[in-house]
Amino acid sequence: MDDCLLVCHQCKERYPIGKQNKCKNCGGILTAEYSDRYLKRAWKQLNKKEKHGMWDYKETFPPVSDEDIVTFREGGTQLLPSISIGEKLGLSQLYFKDETKNPTGSFKDRSASICVSMAKALSCPGIVASSSGNGGAAAAAYGVKGNLDTVIFIPENTPADKISQAIFYGGTVIKVKGNFSKAYHAAADMAEKKGYMNVTTTFLNPFGLEGYKTISFEIFDQMGTVPDYIIIPVGDGPILYGIYKGFEEMKRIEMIKKLPKLVCIQAKGCAPIAKAWKEKRKVISCKNPMTIASAISDPLAGYEQDGEITIDAIRATDGRALMVEDFQILEAGRELAWEEGLFVEPSSAVVLAGLHQLIGSGIIEKKDSCVCLLTGHGLKDCSSYYPKGGKTAWINA
Ligand SMILES: *Cc1c(COP(=O)(O)O)cnc(C)c1O
Ligand SMILES: [Zn+2]
Repeated sequence: MDDCLLVCHQCKERYPIGKQNKCKNCGGILTAEYSDRYLKRAWKQLNKKEKHGMWDYKETFPPVSDEDIVTFREGGTQLLPSISIGEKLGLSQLYFKDETKNPTGSFKDRSASICVSMAKALSCPGIVASSSGNGGAAAAAYGVKGNLDTVIFIPENTPADKISQAIFYGGTVIKVKGNFSKAYHAAADMAEKKGYMNVTTTFLNPFGLEGYKTISFEIFDQMGTVPDYIIIPVGDGPILYGIYKGFEEMKRIEMIKKLPKLVCIQAKGCAPIAKAWKEKRKVISCKNPMTIASAISDPLAGYEQDGEITIDAIRATDGRALMVEDFQILEAGRELAWEEGLFVEPSSAVVLAGLHQLIGSGIIEKKDSCVCLLTGHGLKDCSSYYPKGGKTAWINA
């Protein structure tokens, strides 16, 4: 059965579907790869049915039996045509893919749902995750629902509401002194020791990408075509790679002819990928991450190769990477809320700040169709917009 395997991105070594996180040969990143036959058969089934959420695309995943699926109806999110920002920018085709309406408020639910389901399918006793907040909240929700021991490592700078959310769902939450990379290594150690599945939403878990690729399938179904650009907030890059993988699989079996150009947006205070892109060099980890966009503040310390695979995907689509400043993120967040009624967290607002830059520099033209991925809800990280509670006044009433 060679229809579905884990394949090393670097040395191309192949492994059966399992819970291993890295290539045993070279330490490279593993992704799930399918034969053309498998994908063609999947889409033959899919084209016959109506789809409402992520699991309606399960034929394109590694096989999972129905009793192992842990779902809260994630995915199936709206593709919203812009109310007024598109017109202001002169773009006739500007869309927002609204991932903030997922069950725990971010697209990380897609990864958590499939990773926890695979953990059950592979008989893991528990799951462990490190997270800057959203991934942890999602892992807690799905891990507990799946009756698995659920442990989440979070770095110091995690917004309080995201911590509360993970605890509320019933996960065991452990705070780690230092930045995200510290939490990353703590989780990896525990997964190794206890035989738990590491569902950290970096490239450590190959199945998360399978959840994310359904965003591409949905965009294609919703537009009836492939957009020219998709603008994506990036920390480590699985979100971008997953979207690339979805379109690439469709292209391989000739459902589509071209790939959308994928644009990676990072915050200037932590932009190891965008800096490497700009300076045309290898990815170097960020020494002192400092940005209000906490969900994409990933310094990549000790796993710089994740940045390289993300750059491979950007390059394969003829896309690009760029950085935006915190004050631009704040302005973009307000613009999305005021103009479109879309209240997103700073780590999502980066896409609009990036769009302004791309239009300003003439890279995106008026005729181009453009999808902005809104990854996380504003209520998850409100205090980053107004750290001191904003301007309020007491009255005697
Ligand atoms: C995780 C996250 C991202 C970045 O995703 P990566 O796959 O780590 O690059 C972007 N926005 C939000 C809100 C997130 O939670
Ligand atoms: Zn390898």
